[in-house]
Amino acid sequence: MKNITVIGSGTMGNGIAHVFAQNNYSVSLVDVNPAALEKALANISKNFDRQIAKGNVSEDQKAQALANITTFTSMAEGIKDAELAIEAATENENIKLKIFKEMDDLAPAGCLLASNTSSISITKLAAKTKRPGKVIGMHFMNPVPMMKLVEVINGFTTDEEVTKTIIETAENIGKITALSMDYPGFIANRLLMPMINEAIHTLHEGVGGVEDIDNIMKLGMAHPMGPLQLADFIGLDVCHSIMTVLYRGFGNPKYVPCPLLTNMVASKSLGKKTGEGFYNYTHGGKDLVVSSRFK
Ligand code: NAD
Repeated sequence: MKNITVIGSGTMGNGIAHVFAQNNYSVSLVDVNPAALEKALANISKNFDRQIAKGNVSEDQKAQALANITTFTSMAEGIKDAELAIEAATENENIKLKIFKEMDDLAPAGCLLASNTSSISITKLAAKTKRPGKVIGMHFMNPVPMMKLVEVINGFTTDEEVTKTIIETAENIGKITALSMDYPGFIANRLLMPMINEAIHTLHEGVGGVEDIDNIMKLGMAHPMGPLQLADFIGLDVCHSIMTVLYRGFGNPKYVPCPLLTNMVASKSLGKKTGEGFYNYTHGGKDLVVSSRFK
């Protein structure tokens, strides 16, 4: 496999393009928004500079990797030679169902179709195509160049051979895989999101303050980030929508998003990306300053 197409060039799409290009794959990066493609190339270049500063990559390797990436606004053009197409577009079921139908119509017959979705059913996406056996989940972690794990998700209809190929492909780009079956939240978010939601309940009920809760998990459980800081980093809207997927998928009230999380999302306090969540980021992201709302 040499030709990879990545659909969606946002946070995750540009990271996925980066790691494949660095490992000598030819990458077609597709986005409906030309400004997103420009930003993606600038981000990839900046992230390579960081790797160069750490001594992990040479200038030549950066130049070669950037030369391996071509950008497209037309899916038809960007996917026509793909052997594997990875969708990393906006986390919205209707958008993804439409994209999968389009990918299936436009990609070569043997092309495997993967989604980087955090929570949408791979089986549902596969059912939109005429090649359900060739559809699989490939859930990269953010930031993609740094994080080792790819959660591979077997849809109900995914062929065994396809799973093997995807695991091998992930290993070829230096990743380690974990295999999950296709149930709400897969493994990663089924474990992570209820922990984050419970941390928010703990804050909401006054059991502990923001720093107490995060320090318990950082210093007591050796997590690199506390759950509230991590929620800010992921985006509180994303956390809310994944809890809603778990709640709807299992019908179990233990997954209802905490009312404090719901209020924060409604008030657009979404974490790092809006400047305020459990912490305040308007001064920059380095020092952790608890939001005045929780002092
Ligand atoms: P993002 O909003 O940064 O980027 C999404 C991109 O998709 C945008 O550039 C948008 O223009 C593009 N897009 C929308 N519709 C399109 C279409 N029809 N064709 C082509 N491009 C289209 O989103 P993101 O954070 O990169 O997330 C992408 C996917 O990765 C989501 O499914 C998300 O759940 C998943 N994910 C995100 C993270 C994370 O931490 N951000 C982690 C793991 C998985």
